[in-house]
Amino acid sequence: MTSPQIRHRVDPRAERAARTILTGQRPRLLRQPVATATVNERRRDPRAIRDAALVQRQPRPRYDWARDAASAGTTAAVGVAVANAPVIPLQVIAEPAYLVLAMLDRPGGEVSEHDRQVIAAARLLADAGGGAVVTVATGSGEALAEAGSDRHVALPDGWADDYVPERRAAAAAALMASLSPRHILFPDSPDGGDLARRVAAAAGERLFAGVQSLGPDRATRQSAGGSLETGHRPTRLMTVAADAFAPLDGVRHEARPLDLATPVVAGEEVLPRLGCARRLAVDPDALSLSETDFILSAGNGVTDWQSFAELGEALGATRAGSRVVCDAGHLPRERQVGASGTVVSARCYLAFGIAGAPQHLQGITGVKHVIAINTDLHAEMIKRADLSIVADAQEIMPALIRLIRERRHD
Ligand SMILES: Cc1cc2nc3c(=O)[nH]c(=O)nc-3n(C[C@H](O)[C@H](O)[C@H](O)COP(=O)(O)OP(=O)(O)OC[C@H]3O[C@@H](n4cnc5c(N)ncnc54)[C@H](O)[C@@H]3O)c2cc1C
Repeated sequence: MTSPQIRHRVDPRAERAARTILTGQRPRLLRQPVATATVNERRRDPRAIRDAALVQRQPRPRYDWARDAASAGTTAAVGVAVANAPVIPLQVIAEPAYLVLAMLDRPGGEVSEHDRQVIAAARLLADAGGGAVVTVATGSGEALAEAGSDRHVALPDGWADDYVPERRAAAAAALMASLSPRHILFPDSPDGGDLARRVAAAAGERLFAGVQSLGPDRATRQSAGGSLETGHRPTRLMTVAADAFAPLDGVRHEARPLDLATPVVAGEEVLPRLGCARRLAVDPDALSLSETDFILSAGNGVTDWQSFAELGEALGATRAGSRVVCDAGHLPRERQVGASGTVVSARCYLAFGIAGAPQHLQGITGVKHVIAINTDLHAEMIKRADLSIVADAQEIMPALIRLIRERRHD
């Protein structure tokens, strides 16, 4: 009699995710299968999971699916889920055939969506022939490894808030001289586009601006108001249009600090021509909802309007609300978020006491991170949120204000 053999369950999605090395305009797969961690998978017990999640039986059963992690009967199931997470292989380009520089904006030290798109575009050029992507930005390269950076050149942190494009242009010129990159990509943003033009003028080279598709042999952009497509062989200097390339997902590169023989930071000879060039603080409530990056939003669950106003001020967030609160006159009509209000695309949306009606959710489809505060665990807004607090909004608002003030004093 032969002994029973253990067979591992095949999870085609996990395998595919582990083999995906690039999701630029189209995903690419490694040829060799990558070992996924789907070994010794334990059987899930759906009844035990359901019992552990039951928080209330009357008048109708309610379940808190986050609780199954804590229950003894289901820790194995959660462990399996963790083990099943696809292992993303580290991509190492030890001896790059050539370099592609990505000069990032990194506004306020944050990696913007546009920055990630520029790295994705740079990867298309680098991966075509064994090249490496070198990111150039303020701050460390850690946050850029999963965006696709092989090497990183850190500009001084102090440069993040100052508007001195001459210094960045000098750094770009120094890098062009010392690294001889095959291409240099910039975001086609107000700052990135300005920098690219300065570098092109100083180097006496052509700039192909607003690239929308890119390959080793051809770059294209729109012209004549979008009615024509202009194609060209990729030039050395290019700016990348916003939202033309999908940021990479499921990749892990080194983002190793690059050792430079000569420093890129120029000395006092590169003095800013503008006398005063600091970013000015703006009143967040003066910003239009469609433009602001951080929104503090109130729904019918908010009654303490004084705390709501103070919290908005303390966070530096633009205040907004659901239709119910605008109808009630707590906020002006132009502050209404939703299908019949403003569709927003903030990076962070803090929703206090908002149920998450379909008309409201339609207004926040483009929001990156949603944080919901609601007393009802089953509110639709909580399902939409990346982070939730199941509590009374009137308690959380003053507690947050206290915390912010304490941190500021520290
Ligand atoms: C044609 C049409 C267009 C519409 N357009 C829009 C639109 O553009 N935008 C929009 O917002 N709505 C719109 N609506 C209205 C929408 O359907 C909802 O009625 C509205 O969004 C509900 O607002 P709300 O979530 O603030 O209030 P409610 O539905 O009353 O929800 C209040 C929430 O607060 C929670 N809560 C209660 N007390 C507390 C507390 N102390 N602490 C924390 N949480 C608490 C509750 O659990 C609940 O989830 C539209 C409707 C129609 C028919």
